[in-house]
Amino acid sequence: MRRVSIFGATGSIGQNTLDLIARAPEDYDVVALTGGRNIAHLARDAISLNADVAVTAHENLLDDLRDALAGTGIEAAAGTQALNEAAARPADWVMSAIIGAAGLAPGLTALQQGATLALANKESLVTAGPLLMETARKHNATVLPVDSEHSAIFQGLVGEDLSAVERIIITASGGAFRDWPLDKLAGATLAQASSHPNWDMGQRITIDSASMFNKALEVIETKEFFGVLPEQIEVLVHPESMVHALVGFNDGALMAHVGAPDMRHAIGYALHWPERRQLPVERLDLAQIGQLTFRAPDPQRYPALRLAQEVMQTGGMMGAIFNGAKERALDAFIAGQIGFLDMARVVEDVMTQLSSDNGLIGADFTLDNVSKADQMARYRADQIMAAQEAE
Ligand code: NAD
Ligand code: MG
Repeated sequence: MRRVSIFGATGSIGQNTLDLIARAPEDYDVVALTGGRNIAHLARDAISLNADVAVTAHENLLDDLRDALAGTGIEAAAGTQALNEAAARPADWVMSAIIGAAGLAPGLTALQQGATLALANKESLVTAGPLLMETARKHNATVLPVDSEHSAIFQGLVGEDLSAVERIIITASGGAFRDWPLDKLAGATLAQASSHPNWDMGQRITIDSASMFNKALEVIETKEFFGVLPEQIEVLVHPESMVHALVGFNDGALMAHVGAPDMRHAIGYALHWPERRQLPVERLDLAQIGQLTFRAPDPQRYPALRLAQEVMQTGGMMGAIFNGAKERALDAFIAGQIGFLDMARVVEDVMTQLSSDNGLIGADFTLDNVSKADQMARYRADQIMAAQEAE
């Protein structure tokens, strides 16, 4: 039996993970499940998988969670500290599927106890790539990518020498607005940005797909995880979302990973690695699909991709600043306070404001420093948005 914990169990990746685990319950001993406000859902899953502990991120919901678990013998806990304690409980495999910078600390704690970390939380690599990878090395722990593109790259590299890699191409669906006229984008609504043409995901990453902030995060994630140079990473718009990534080698060969747009591909690969096991995903009928198409992303439509280049050139805490500002701008878009195109403007303004703060940018990669940079970026984003509102 493998001891597994799932952070962000009530979310889109979390639920897909539980789906795979629930198909072979005899193989898994579920240690911790964590969630947010959806207490009934969290408790139901904890009971059906017989978890040791269920944790909500919100301290004020502890009593509700206790009530929902009364008489089951499952422990209830709440708050940031409790999330970290749950991550310290011995486990063999830990899914990191909390959304946002909040996923970093429990992921680091899981690595410190030597667990294999299945990393859906790309923000961990964007904000603190060197810290995460160094923590894994120090504790002899493994990080496995769960983002579909990065799982695809990882699979394309099995048995290969990294020094033979010339380039890595990650694909993007282009999101909800890939075919919209540019002059309509400013008026895009929350509902329009929250519907994805191919993938069924959480709301935040769906909006980030429409703006390509998600792809921007993934470009940085590629650099941090695989240790390639920024200029070796390319993005291609691929509306069918079936080729997830391609690895280009020094002999000109391109190895592509092709599969249905279903996150259980990547989650299942990380769950069973280094083996492959049968997965309940659609088998593609390529004759029926007929054609797969690719095109270069339009830099005007997707300014986030240019910002990702700036993050990688600057390095240091700029990843945490970029992500923190993006999270606040996204909050504001979801709350109806700013428009769709304002998100990239706010993030760029925060990056420009903080880029000359060498003490902040050049700080060592510690959890404290990353949190400080993240907080500073959020604070500046709020200031910028408040000033714009006042105009
Ligand atoms: P989601 O919004 O559906 O779920 C997020 C989960 O995190 C929920 O369980 C929620 O309760 C919890 N959570 C939210 N804020 C929290 C906080 N501050 N502290 C603790 N817990 C918190 O998100 P998702 O779409 O499943 O994405 C999860 C992660 O996986 C993200 O980093 C995302 O970028 C990445 N990812 C998702 C997909 C996908 O298909 N959804 C694909 C690739 C990568
Ligand atoms: Mg992805």
